[in-house]
Order: sequence, then structure tokens, then C-alpha cells
Amino acid sequence: MDGSPLGIAQAREVVLAACRPLGTEEVPVTDALGRVLAEPVIAAADVPPFASSAMDGYAVLAGPAGRVVRVVGESRAGTPAERGPGEGEAVAISTGAVVPPGAEAVVPLEVTERDGDRVTLTAPARPGDHVRGAGEDLRAGGTVLEPGRRLGPAEVGVAIGAGRASLRCARRPRVAVLCTGDELRAPGEPLGAGQIHNTNAYTLAALALESGAELAAPPGQVRDELGATRDALGSALDRADVLVVSGGVSVGPHDHVKGALAELGVQERFWRVALRPGRPTWFGVRGDRLVFGLPGNPVSAMVTFLLFARPALAALQGASTAVPVRLATMTEAIPRNAGRDEAVRVALRERDGVLQATPTGPQGSHQLTSMLGADGLVIVERGEGELPAGAPVRVEIR
Ligand code: AMP
Ligand code: MG
Repeated sequence: MDGSPLGIAQAREVVLAACRPLGTEEVPVTDALGRVLAEPVIAAADVPPFASSAMDGYAVLAGPAGRVVRVVGESRAGTPAERGPGEGEAVAISTGAVVPPGAEAVVPLEVTERDGDRVTLTAPARPGDHVRGAGEDLRAGGTVLEPGRRLGPAEVGVAIGAGRASLRCARRPRVAVLCTGDELRAPGEPLGAGQIHNTNAYTLAALALESGAELAAPPGQVRDELGATRDALGSALDRADVLVVSGGVSVGPHDHVKGALAELGVQERFWRVALRPGRPTWFGVRGDRLVFGLPGNPVSAMVTFLLFARPALAALQGASTAVPVRLATMTEAIPRNAGRDEAVRVALRERDGVLQATPTGPQGSHQLTSMLGADGLVIVERGEGELPAGAPVRVEIR
């Protein structure tokens, strides 16, 4: 692309404009953790379905302290009593058991004294005491979860409470991760001259999984050679909704990603973002398929994934693409870069009720340790001078 590179927000807009939500599928509710809901969940019935006791004790008519009542039955969780209490009577009751018909209150065990089938109630019983009404959690017919919501433990629990055994969810995007570089070796492999371990294959795959995607195949690796790059990209593209390539996207004589993608009919949407780290980032499409050409530097690869690929994966799943943000105070001055916005990795901690953001150490694009303990990114806008210590900042939570 000619002209000055896009800013982060513009580049993100270009990416999101290319995203079409994927289809949906029925998922057993017990497998739905981490999925994005594609339909509303409506409570089939009241939850709790019946008035139940909040305590172990005695179900009785309302009345003052000091009464002596006779136990005429028991209501256990799962086994209701055969009849309710009358005047001068009580039904022993367990937490979660049905409050029998006619009972107006539950008197907790702790304020009773039992002697055979007689019980002295040492506390008054006001109507409704320790009784949970039917539908206090969910009302039959009420919408309890909206489409677009990512399902965490509580969402799955509420869906089960609402009576569901399966949920219509967005299909998980299939992501292919491909790393270019003659210098790359697999984890644990001994390194020869000039070689390094391939970290991006694993950081990018992990970020994709964290974003709700599944891997189209184990992360691949390809030599810095045009034909091999084209073949590897071509077969990854055939299997994936989203192709994430690392390295080889710059202008060096051994960078073949852009040339190979052009030969494969992938249309460039942008190349280069006014961003540090991550300037050479490339993005293109083939039909509905998205291709991210991320820089090889390990920090750049992770940061550009977070800034551009993660929102895209959310959009493909019909989830919100809004990045969670927290407001904090920067503890150190950050010199501004003249031409590029800088994504500073920060750790957050609270001090005297104020959230403080501190850079995670040296911020070179090759210093992957700067991602350790990084709670988020502070985008320091390009320009002259510095962002002073004490400045209020927005932290994009990772
Ligand atoms: P490139 O974008 O291919 O020019 O690579 C930029 C830098 O990132 C070089 O120092 C590469 O050795 C390094 N690099 C490229 N790919 C990877 C990878 N998969 N894992 C770790 N470092 C990489
Ligand atoms: Mg390279």
C-alpha cells in the first residue's frame, strides 16, 4: 500500500470490515465453555422451580417465639413431605426441600429444641422467613443469556439451570499458524550456528486458542524460499478460516510471504501499521478467509495478534470486538516515538486505591520476556517529547 501507514484504529477497522460471522452449530451444554452463544437462552421454567427452604429446620405456620409444635412429617431435598403443617404442627425440612403446602415460614434448627416429636421454637416465625420463592433466580419465559455472549462457567451453569442440554453456538474459527524462517528450530532441538527456537508457533497458536479458535492443523514451519512458502501457505489457506503467518513479511531478499500470497490470490488490505512493535504487519483476504502476515519478532507477533487478529476472531464468532480497557496511571515516563504509536507492555497493580501501570522491563521487539506479567498494552501515541510519569492511560487488557 502506498502512502503513510495506517494507525492502529484504522487498521483494526479494515480488519473488522472484512469479517463475516461464521456459521453456527449445536453444542452439548457441557462442551460449551469458551464458546460464543448464537441464540438467546430462555428459561424453560422457574428456577428454583418450587418454593424451597433456605435452612435446615422446621416448616410451620407463622407465629411468636416460645411455641411448642409436634413434628408430623419430613420434607427432604428431592422428596417432598406428604402434607403440610397445621396449627401446632411442624414439618422437618432440609435446605433446598419443598416448603410444604400451607407452611408460612421455616424456623432454623439453631433456634429450636427437640424432644421426641415435640419441638420448642425459640424464635418467632414471620411469614416468608427462610423461604426461597419459586422463580427468584430465573422466571419461566425470561431471557437469561443473549446471543454474542461468551460462555464462562457461570453462563454454562445458568444455561443448564434454564433447562438446556445443548446450545446453538458460533462455530469455532479454524486458524492455521505458519512460521517462516530458515533459522527456526523446534522446541528443545539443539541450535546450530545462527539458529533460534521457534517461539511464535506456540505463542500464536496459544493466543488463537485463547480467542476461542481451534487449530486447523498443528503449527507449521517453512523455509525462506518462494516456492516452499507458496505451497505451505496454499495448503494452510485451504484448511483455515484464518491464516496467521509469522516472519518473512518485510522487504528483505528472503522475505517471500507477500509474493507468495499474491500468487495465491490473496488480496492485500494493508501492509504496514504505524505501530511499534509491529510495523510490517500485513493483512489480506481471499473470499471470506483472512490472512494476517505478522512480523517475525516474537513480541511484534504477539502484540499484532492481540491488536488485530484477536478482535477478528471475536467478530467471526459474533462476539463483541470491544477491547476491555482499564484506566490507570503510568508510573514511568515513556519517550514518544516520532512516527509510530508504541504498544507498551505493562503490569498493573493497585496502590492506595489507584491502579498503576508499569512497563514490564526492556521493550525491544525481540525481548519476549516483556510479555511476561503483561496485564495489557498502553498505546503511547507518536509525537514529540514523552508521556510523563503520572499520566492517565487506557490499558487494553490482554
Ligand atoms: P522476519 O520478520 O522474518 O524478518 O524476522 C524478524 C526477527 O524475528 C528475526 O530475528 C527472526 O529470527 C525472528 N523470528 C522470525 N520468526 C520467528 C519465530 N517463529 N520464532 C522466534 N523468532 C522468530
Ligand atoms: Mg525471516
